[in-house]
Amino acid sequence: MNQITVTGMVLSTAPISEYDRRVVILTKEQGKISAFAKGARRQNSPLVGAVNPFSFGEFTLYAGRNSYTIQSVRIQNYFAELREDIIGAYYGFYFLEFTIYFTKEANDEREMLKLLYQTLKALTNTKIPNRLIRYIFELKALCFNGEGPQVFQCVCCGDKERSAVFSPQKGGLVCSECDRDVIDGICLNNSTLYSMQYIETSKIEHLYTFVVKENVLDELGRVMERYRDIYIDKRFKSLEILETLL
Ligand SMILES: [Zn+2]
Repeated sequence: MNQITVTGMVLSTAPISEYDRRVVILTKEQGKISAFAKGARRQNSPLVGAVNPFSFGEFTLYAGRNSYTIQSVRIQNYFAELREDIIGAYYGFYFLEFTIYFTKEANDEREMLKLLYQTLKALTNTKIPNRLIRYIFELKALCFNGEGPQVFQCVCCGDKERSAVFSPQKGGLVCSECDRDVIDGICLNNSTLYSMQYIETSKIEHLYTFVVKENVLDELGRVMERYRDIYIDKRFKSLEILETLL
């Protein structure tokens, strides 16, 4: 029998026929996969509690010719705290939807899986504002996708000394010698720039170890919004719902 065990997180589930579910899982071993959870909608199925969004653990799958079928699951973390925190949960759903959009099948997605796990863990930590978690996640995910902004030197000439503005359209900093045709330049607060530099270079496990002042958080929000508008060509349903809740 063609059985494999993978470690991963459930990104989404959808009902199929009367008793089954189709589950999308981001795995360490196979990138993003779809799998059938047969009988998962029956009350007494062992899969009932296991194949929900945010479930992280080991999935034993039967690999058919065209599809996977989940045989058993050993959950290590449900992120149960998010069930009692509707705002936190919607931030979480947004991170899952974002991950579905940014990951591929049969691709090495270990970094994204690690980022998602640490990000959900950060959501359960009340000391870090949800907005900051969101901007950190978005910026780091864009970097993994090769679309992170240049925040260390001028994108045009590589200069690191001259004063510079941040241009979402140009993809990062533009120095005072090269900024003639920049129309969307933002003069960044030093702390905002430093935060972005830290997020881009930090290891995933060290990402959620700082907080910023309210004005820096606001500026980071404005920068990320303009940057997202240019580089992400997708409307996220969960984000629209989240924005109505805030
Ligand atoms: Zn320059």
